Amino acid sequence: MTIEMKPEVQINTNYYSVQKIKNLTDSTFILQLPKCRFKFDAGQHISLSIAGDYQSREYSIYSAEDASNLELLVKEVEGGYFSPKLKHLKIGNQVEIHGPFGRFCLDTKKLNTHQHVFIASGTGIAPFHSMIKTYPGLNYRIIHGVRLAEEAYDREEYEPGRYYLCTSRDTSGDYKGRLTGYLQEATFENNSCFYLCGNSDMIFDAMEILKEKGFSRDDVNVEVYF
Ligand SMILES: Cc1cc2nc3c(=O)[nH]c(=O)nc-3n(C[C@H](O)[C@H](O)[C@H](O)COP(=O)(O)OP(=O)(O)OC[C@H]3O[C@@H](n4cnc5c(N)ncnc54)[C@H](O)[C@@H]3O)c2cc1C
Repeated sequence: MTIEMKPEVQINTNYYSVQKIKNLTDSTFILQLPKCRFKFDAGQHISLSIAGDYQSREYSIYSAEDASNLELLVKEVEGGYFSPKLKHLKIGNQVEIHGPFGRFCLDTKKLNTHQHVFIASGTGIAPFHSMIKTYPGLNYRIIHGVRLAEEAYDREEYEPGRYYLCTSRDTSGDYKGRLTGYLQEATFENNSCFYLCGNSDMIFDAMEILKEKGFSRDDVNVEVYF
């Protein structure tokens, strides 16, 4: 007697269907997916591709570690290959995720002893949103540099007085000018630890300013997007 083998059904757990695209501005949106099926530490990123497309890009995880949906905060880059395709995904389309990757995470030894200063340009605020949502009660301060005040993504979700917006192209932020201009004028507590995320120009300039202010490189963590 021959035993017939049932064909093995392959379920690729890396695939997620798009649940929602929530537009925050004309170019920036939250890509909402079902609950995350892997463990990650707030601050980590994933590699994302669209089913049927050979390209992939990295995105920080925007949602908290235990959130009921996996969320990414994405800016559609004009002339970019991948981000415009993400913007035009429809509910039910499949994306593939690999990861999590990276070590841009909170130092748990400093959770109760330090003020966490989160310095972000544009969508570089994404990992900080995940950290703050994951650790309620965290002592933090966000300094967010954008061009226009409308880019203060989900500002209302941060505790009053902890979020500070620097706008370089309009006057309705908390500080009119570049984030680095604000950093030069700002004072920080001695027990501060710094997390910098976004474009490399901002990160290099901000690191230089923090060094001039006497902070050690050991207290500065960076994640460069481009
Ligand atoms: C670790 C890591 C995490 C990242 N997390 C995020 C995230 O959470 N959200 C996000 O929107 N992007 C994030 N990025 C950037 C993302 O991976 C892509 O580079 C971006 O979406 C552009 O891809 P594209 O194919 O549209 O552009 P491409 O055709 O690859 O063109 C790349 C150019 O786009 C510009 N660019 C890249 N990212 C941005 C941006 N965020 N804002 C403005 N200009 C940009 C740069 O000038 C770059 O040279 C991250 C990158 C890294 C390395």
